[in-house]
Amino acid sequence: MSAKHEYTCINCPLSCSLELAEEEGEVLDVQGQGCKVGEKYAMQEFTDPQRVVTTTVPVRGGTLPLLPVRSVRTIPKMMVLEAARRLASVVVEAPVKGGEVIVEDILGTGVDVIASRDLEEEKQ
Ligand code: SF4
Repeated sequence: MSAKHEYTCINCPLSCSLELAEEEGEVLDVQGQGCKVGEKYAMQEFTDPQRVVTTTVPVRGGTLPLLPVRSVRTIPKMMVLEAARRLASVVVEAPVKGGEVIVEDILGTGVDVIASRDLEEEKQ
């Protein structure tokens, strides 16, 4: 039985509305894309959706209480919530350099989570 799936392309500000038609998991057609990137995006969303994880973790002894962190690459979308839960238990010590690895190989994905910015140590 055929089915249609709708996505919004997030690869540029045009945000094209995409419609992917499939039958029993086999992609038949993608429509609505303004360029080839949208077709690739719809196929990826249908077969293996991926996301970058972004969140904050608490900092001990820093000039700010929270450090923004992100995964260096995408991970499977279905693992994002679990990754956020894992990161919720992490506390880092200031100072931190942007790009510093905060969690290696999050959930065995092979993807590291890094600091998104520098964070200085609070002066006493
Ligand atoms: S399909 Fe192409 S033009 Fe449309 S939003 Fe995606 S990248 Fe932009």
